[in-house]
Amino acid sequence: MQRTGRRMFVLSLAAAAALGLGPLAAAQEKPAWQAGVARVKITPEKPIWMSGYAARNRPAEGKLTELWAKALVLQDAKGRRVVLVTLDLVGVDRRFGLEVRQRIARELGVPLAAVALNCSHTHTGPVVGENLRPTYALDEEQTQQIAQYTRWLKGRVVQAARQAAAALAPARVGWTEGRATFAVNRRNNREADVPRLRRQGKLRGPVDHRVPVLVVQSLQGKLKAVVAGYACHATVLSFYLWSGDYPGFFQLALEEDHPGAVALFVAGCGGDQNPLPRRKVEYAKEYGRRLADAVNQAMKKGLQPLKPTLEFQYREVPLALAHVPSRRELQQDLKSKNVYIVRRAKLLLEQLDRQGRIPGEYPYPVQSWLLGGELLWVFLGGEVVVDYSLRLHRELEGPLWVAGYSNDVMAYIPSLRVLREGGYEGARAMIYYGLPSPWASDVELRVVEEVHRQARLLGRKVRQTAGNQR
Ligand SMILES: [Zn+2]
Repeated sequence: MQRTGRRMFVLSLAAAAALGLGPLAAAQEKPAWQAGVARVKITPEKPIWMSGYAARNRPAEGKLTELWAKALVLQDAKGRRVVLVTLDLVGVDRRFGLEVRQRIARELGVPLAAVALNCSHTHTGPVVGENLRPTYALDEEQTQQIAQYTRWLKGRVVQAARQAAAALAPARVGWTEGRATFAVNRRNNREADVPRLRRQGKLRGPVDHRVPVLVVQSLQGKLKAVVAGYACHATVLSFYLWSGDYPGFFQLALEEDHPGAVALFVAGCGGDQNPLPRRKVEYAKEYGRRLADAVNQAMKKGLQPLKPTLEFQYREVPLALAHVPSRRELQQDLKSKNVYIVRRAKLLLEQLDRQGRIPGEYPYPVQSWLLGGELLWVFLGGEVVVDYSLRLHRELEGPLWVAGYSNDVMAYIPSLRVLREGGYEGARAMIYYGLPSPWASDVELRVVEEVHRQARLLGRKVRQTAGNQR
C-alpha cells in the first residue's frame, strides 16, 4: 500500500512539473507555511587570526570565497516560528551562542528552543570569541582584533535573522535525502592510503553518507531556500585565505544551479570524518559540486511535503568530565613541554582565581525540532562523532536529521567507543578546547538519553537498543 502511494506521489510530482508547478504544489492543497531567508556577509574586513589549525603562524592573507551567515525563518499555521542560522565558521563558544540566540529570540518573539545556530566547521575562517583559545599564540593586538570581530559578528548574525523574518512569505516546505561519499573515517584509514583503499573498496570505519535536504518553495513553485546537511570535517583547505571550504563551494554550486535561491549548509556528526583526498582548491570545489549534485538528484527523486506544524525542545544537560585538576596539578602543567597544555593550564588557573573552582560538568546543549509532525531535526553541540548519528537513526523511528556543531562548539563529543579508544577525538583534543580532562565514561549515555527524552516529548517512538551501559 505504502509503496503504491509513494509511486503515485512521485507521478503526481512529474505531472505537476510538466504543468510548470513546483514539485510540492500537487501534494499540498492548503499551504500555510510562511518562510523567509536572508544572508549576510561575515568575511572579516581585516586580516585577523584564522581558526582550525594550531600550526598557523600568521594571520589571514586574503580571500578565496566570502563567508556567510544565512538565516531561515519558518512559521507554521499557528504562527509558531523557528530560526536556523548557518555560519561559515569553525565554531562558536557557549557565550557567543547563547547571547546571539537570546538576542534573536527577543527580537523575533520566540523561545530560545526555537533558535538554532550551526557552524560549517570551515578551517579557513576566523577565530571567534574564546572558541579553541589555547590553540593559538595570540598577541595583544590580535586578541583585540578578534574581540572586535566577534562583537561585529554578533550584530551581523542577528541582522541575518531579522532580515529573514522580515522576508516571511507563504511557502511550501518539504524534505528529502541524498547521498555523497567523499567523507572518510579519519581514525580508521591512513590519509595517504585513502585513494588506494577507496579503489579497492576497503575503506574502514563507520561513516554517515546521508545528505538530508530541506526545501522551501514559494507558492508558485519557485525555489527559495535549500538546507542540506553532511557529516564531514571542512578541512580540505589549510592555507591563509578565507574560504567556506567544501561547504562554501556547495552553497555556491547550488545557488548557481538555482538562481534566486539561497543554499544553507548544516554540519552533521562529522567529528571523526575527513574529506579525502584534500589540500587542493580543486578538491574543495569538487566536493561542493558533488554535494550540490546529491541535493539536485534527491530533489528530482521527489519531495516529502511537510504539514505546517512546528514543535521544539531544548535543554542543557550536564556532561561530566573525567577529572578536575587541582591547583597543584595545573601548576605542574605550566612546566609542560607541550605549549598547548601550558596555555590551557594558564586559562584554567585564571578561571580558578576568578570563580574559585573549575566545574566538573559542562552544560551541553541538546535541541530538537519536529517539522510537520514528521521530520525530527536534532541539533547537538560540539564536534559529535559519527557513531551518534548512526545510533540515533537505529533508535528513533521515522525521518531524522542529526546535526552537530550547533549552538556551542565546546569540544569533541566522542562515543563511548571513541572515548575508550582515546586518541585525538577521544582525549587529546580537549586540550585545544581548554577543557581540563576527557569526558567521563557516561558521555554518550547522557547525550543519547536527552535526545530520547526530547524525541518522546515530541511524540516519537524510541527503540531501546544495547549499548546503554555506563
Ligand atoms: Zn574539528
